[in-house]
Amino acid sequence: MPLMSNALLYRLITSGEPLMSKSAFKRALARLDQAAEHVEIPEETFIRLHHPRAVLSVAVPVRRDDGSLEIFTGYRVHHSDLLGPCKGGLRYHPDVDLEEVKALAFWMTCKCAVMDLPYGGAKGGVTVDPRKLSMMEIERLSRGLIRQIADFIGPEVDIPAPDVYTNERIMGWMMDEYSQVVRRRTPAVITGKPVALGGSLGRSTATGRGGWVCLRELGKEYDWQPEKTRIAIQGFGNAGQAIARLLHEDGFRVVAVSDSKGAIFNDDGLDIPSVIEHKNRHSELEAVYCDGSVCETHDAEQLSNEELLELGVDVLVPAAMDDVITADNASKIKARVIIELANGPTTAEADDILTDNDVLVIPDILANAGGVTVSYFEWVQNRRGEQWSESEVHERLDKRMAAQFGKVMALADEHKVSARLAAYMLALKRLGAAAEALGTAHEFNGGSGG
Ligand code: GLU
Repeated sequence: MPLMSNALLYRLITSGEPLMSKSAFKRALARLDQAAEHVEIPEETFIRLHHPRAVLSVAVPVRRDDGSLEIFTGYRVHHSDLLGPCKGGLRYHPDVDLEEVKALAFWMTCKCAVMDLPYGGAKGGVTVDPRKLSMMEIERLSRGLIRQIADFIGPEVDIPAPDVYTNERIMGWMMDEYSQVVRRRTPAVITGKPVALGGSLGRSTATGRGGWVCLRELGKEYDWQPEKTRIAIQGFGNAGQAIARLLHEDGFRVVAVSDSKGAIFNDDGLDIPSVIEHKNRHSELEAVYCDGSVCETHDAEQLSNEELLELGVDVLVPAAMDDVITADNASKIKARVIIELANGPTTAEADDILTDNDVLVIPDILANAGGVTVSYFEWVQNRRGEQWSESEVHERLDKRMAAQFGKVMALADEHKVSARLAAYMLALKRLGAAAEALGTAHEFNGGSGG
């Protein structure tokens, strides 16, 4: 089996521009290229992964409440179906663009492979600021998007899920719309639905819980004492709140949290349940979005988001958007461990700086994989017509997270590489085995199975 030659690697990925000026997708692929140098995989795996298998762009007309018509642009990208139907979230955000969606779909391919799930990778989104829409406008947008992409998704083709600024209510509308389009009740087309519409217990907190399992496993090695371990969480949406609650229950000192409006800090540890309550207090919109801010919490000092990232804590949890830890601030990060609950929070340049400074980064494609793992459980329950108890879901998630975490860390140890590189290596091995099973050029040219 030929190792990827450096010459081919560079032909594929290097066009002379510096990394930062490349598209988000090409920057994401650079991580794969690094990992490919450490694992033996058929060249064809690598070539396949450089090309998203299908890209769809749609215009979604939405009637606004004032009677006017607005057209929103939506995307859905299938990055790879080597390991199974494509899987990944749908986000609503003003910064959504095609190159970013391609990068996010690629990360889903790697994430599902790391977790050993029978899925490929997909992602989608609409370029919109959903906080400027009413609840009924969001429903019309969500249903309109599904009508536009209905031929591109399906329980055995591509299964969407929640992501940034989309949630269970939106998934429920989408499942309902898809079922109307295909004239069959089809719960398995979408995961992250409300439990009443076929969702799984434990799905809404699964991303945070997965990150918490990673911390728990690390804690065994580091012998952390919860009351002395200080944690900062950047981003206080679904994933940030869930991990904060679990850590607080375990007695950890969550000293700072932030949202888009700013950060709060209390060195004795924040009272997480009351911060969550403050944030979610504006109950009118809560059904779609939590509209409060952590900054309304009074027993804490206010900081900026940037200051939060640079706090002298033991563990930093970026749980918001991509590219927040960059070459500009990486050297100022004092945390010893970073748990990436967001997708792509650390740039490749920042990664090098963090590695030089001995900061252990548990990478996104492992640390935030709890969400897609319970999405998989939801899909299995829908297809079997079952409803598992919350404790069964937790047990299965904890077991799978701990097992894959162990594999990644063992690989990192064995090859003396970062946990990120090890996670990509594990993903590549699994993707490589699938590509090989389909046959490679070497075999078709009369080789002996190469
Ligand atoms: N959007 C989540 C992620 O980035 C979940 C995806 C899913 O459940 O399919 O992992």
